Amino acid sequence: MKLPTDPAQNLAALIRCPSVTPAEGGALRTLEDMLRPLGFSVERPVFSEAGTPDIENLYARRSGNGPHLMFAGHTDVVPVGDEAAWTHPPFAAEIANGEMYGRGAVDMKGGIACFIAAVARHIDKNGGPKGSVSLLITGDEEGPAINGTVKLLEWAADKGEKWDASIVGEPTNPDALGDMIKIGRRGSLSGSVIVNGRQGHAAYPQLADNPVRGLMSLVDALLHPVFDEGTKDFQPTNLEVTSIDVGNLATNVIPAKATATFNIRFNDTWDAETIQAEIHNRLDQAAGRKKYRPGKKTPVDYELVWRDRPSHVFLTRDEKLIDTLSKSVVAVIGRTPALSTSGGTSDARFIKDYCPVVEFGLVGKTMHMVDERVAVADLETLTGIYERFIEDWFGQGLT
Ligand SMILES: [Zn+2]
Repeated sequence: MKLPTDPAQNLAALIRCPSVTPAEGGALRTLEDMLRPLGFSVERPVFSEAGTPDIENLYARRSGNGPHLMFAGHTDVVPVGDEAAWTHPPFAAEIANGEMYGRGAVDMKGGIACFIAAVARHIDKNGGPKGSVSLLITGDEEGPAINGTVKLLEWAADKGEKWDASIVGEPTNPDALGDMIKIGRRGSLSGSVIVNGRQGHAAYPQLADNPVRGLMSLVDALLHPVFDEGTKDFQPTNLEVTSIDVGNLATNVIPAKATATFNIRFNDTWDAETIQAEIHNRLDQAAGRKKYRPGKKTPVDYELVWRDRPSHVFLTRDEKLIDTLSKSVVAVIGRTPALSTSGGTSDARFIKDYCPVVEFGLVGKTMHMVDERVAVADLETLTGIYERFIEDWFGQGLT
C-alpha cells in the first residue's frame, strides 16, 4: 500500500478540500484516509454549543509502548477574500515556480501534511516509533474556537488519554524555515471602561458632568506608566486602547456616557488575576484626580467590564522537547532557531494545561493573504525536521 510519505501530495489533497471555518470540506476525511493505513485509530467527534456552528474535529492515535507525542493543528482555513485577485485558484493546489498555492498552504494544512509524511517515512524505515503518536486536529481554530481544541482535549482526556509532549504545527517562522520555535505565549485580556456622567449644555458645565473628562483621566492611567520592561523570556507587556466611543452627534451637548475598550498583552511578570488587580488599582486612583475635572467633588463614576475569557501566559520548560526540536532543526538546516514567545495567542495556550507544548511549522509570511503559498522545498525540509525529531524524541527505538 502507498503510504503518505510525500508532503506535497498530502498538502495538495488537503488544499483541495474547501474547509473554510466552520466547514469540514472533506479535509478531516482526507486525513483519516491518510492515517488509517499508517495504523492510526481515528475518531471524528462533532461538538456543539448553542449560538455557534457544530464543528467536526479529529483525534487519531497510533499506540505503542513508550511515551506519547501529540501533534496538534487545524484543518479549517480563513476565507479566500477576493478570489479574482488570486494568481492561482485558492483550492486547486497548483504549483508555479516551485511554490504551491492555496488557502491553508502554510496556515496550517502544510504543517499537518509534513507531520504525516514524517510519521509515514519513519514507519516505512523503522516500523514505527517506540511509543504513541496522536494527532489532535480541530476544524475551529480560525473561528470562534469554542467547539475545537478545548473540547477535543477534554474529550480525549476523559477517555484516559495522556500526553508527554506536544508540537503545534502553526507557521512560526517569520522569514525562513528554521527561524523560530515558539516556547510560550503572552497572555491576553480585554476590557471596557464605561464612565457615567451627567448630560447637559456645553455652556453650563457646572450643571453637568462630562464623562469624556473622566475617561481621559482613566485612559491616561491605563497607558502610564509602562507595566514592565519585559523579562528574560518575554517582551514588555503592552496595553492598547482599541476604541473610544461616545456616540454624541451634537456639538453643544455634554454627553452622558463615554466608553473606552482596551486589550492588554501581558508577560510572565503577571498572571490574569494580578494584571486585572493592577488595572483596577490604576483606575481607582485615577478616578479621584482633578486634572481634567476641576471643581468636581465626587470621583469619576465608572465601571470596568472584562470581556471574553482571559488567555493565560505560559512558558514551556521541557528541555527534552525543546532541545530535541532545536537540534533537529540544526541537523537538517544547519541553523539554530530562536526560542521565542512573541506574537498573538494560539491553541498551545489550551494544550499547555495537559502537557509541555512547543510550536514549529512553516514560514508564515503569506498566511491569511491572497496567494497564500509554500515553497515545495520547504515542505520537504519541514518533513525532514519532523522526522528527525520523531526519531530522536522516541530515542530511535523500534517497535
Ligand atoms: Zn493557524
